[in-house]
Amino acid sequence: MNVFVVNCGSSSLKYQLIDSETEEVIAKGLCERIGIDGRLTHKPTGKDTVVRECDMPDHKSAVSYVLEALTDEQFGVIKDLSSIDAVGHRIVHGGERFANSVVINDEVLAAIEECNDLAPLHNPANLIGISACKALMPEVPMVAVFDTAFHQTMPQKAYLYGLPYEYYEQYKVRKYGFHGTSHSFVSKRLIELIGKQDKESKVIICHLGNGSSVTAVKNGESVDTSMGFTPLDGLIMGTRSGSIDPAVVQFLADKLSCSLDEVINILNKKSGVEGISGVSSDFRDLDKASSEGNERAAIALDLFAYRVAQFVGSYAASMNGVDAIAFTAGIGENNSKMRKNICEYLEYLGINIDDKANATGGEEIKISTADSKVAVYVIPTNEELAIARETVALL
Ligand code: AMP
Repeated sequence: MNVFVVNCGSSSLKYQLIDSETEEVIAKGLCERIGIDGRLTHKPTGKDTVVRECDMPDHKSAVSYVLEALTDEQFGVIKDLSSIDAVGHRIVHGGERFANSVVINDEVLAAIEECNDLAPLHNPANLIGISACKALMPEVPMVAVFDTAFHQTMPQKAYLYGLPYEYYEQYKVRKYGFHGTSHSFVSKRLIELIGKQDKESKVIICHLGNGSSVTAVKNGESVDTSMGFTPLDGLIMGTRSGSIDPAVVQFLADKLSCSLDEVINILNKKSGVEGISGVSSDFRDLDKASSEGNERAAIALDLFAYRVAQFVGSYAASMNGVDAIAFTAGIGENNSKMRKNICEYLEYLGINIDDKANATGGEEIKISTADSKVAVYVIPTNEELAIARETVALL
């Protein structure tokens, strides 16, 4: 079965065509600057990458360029659209309604739309992606895979905020958590690797990328996670502040004579390790600056490690123990120095890192020593493959 996996942002569209039997990527790519001008980068496996400037006034035209590229005589990978058997859509917010992936029908579309309020930047773009695909491939079955779904197993004590209860009842203000597809994929693999399937297991997943979150997974279910009502909460990230005292928002609005919207924009786009260091949101730049003696870059890196370790510690407490920890995503998979720094904060858990194993990067590997009380692994995440698997399982 060939599954077309679509991840729509407000002005971008990422895609992969995956053969579900071999789990190989047949082609992948990205449309950028949709609604501005438009650029398609198409990477057919085994052939040269194609970059095309095209006029993309909307997502429908972007999908249409992608389908043309996939079926092109020269750089295409399939003969025609009948070779696409299903489409899997990444949807950011499923609210409390979706605890699992679902086959898309009119009722599901209406329910996703009801969640727009909770993710005003993302869900409308996801819906546009669905309707663009439906218009061009009306007969092909489609599945929605939600970023929030995996965390719907959290107990009330983890997801309720200390606010008047009626705000939860009336407005659904609560912790939802994100990166669910990645946390689910990586935790399943980790539980397999430590041989704990169908047994009691307590694992913690550190998804550390531009956006970062930590999740506590007990017996295969998410029981707590660091992102909250929005993906702004929790860890310090590339440009996001993570958790701060909410009173800072009004204080800064007064000091900067700006609106609350503008302060939230600062917390989302100008904060995090970039805001602290004044250097970059990219950890490679920060490592370089820090090694050249830039103190603020060094502080930003240490703050990041400290915060991750704090969440891991608090989740070990939440679950009354932890069997294993996994690092994943751009930083988690590739930055051995950061992994080491985080684990140094966790020595009290009996964690011992094997420096030689930790020095390798970008592949699945155990990085703790044989006598470490908690096993530590690097496990590359693959959200697209997870979406393709979910899509096939449902259809
Ligand atoms: P993501 O959002 O998962 O793509 O992660 C982005 C972050 O991962 C950036 O801060 C990068 O510095 C880091 N990263 C990605 N690839 C590498 C790599 N090959 N080596 C070191 N860091 C990397």
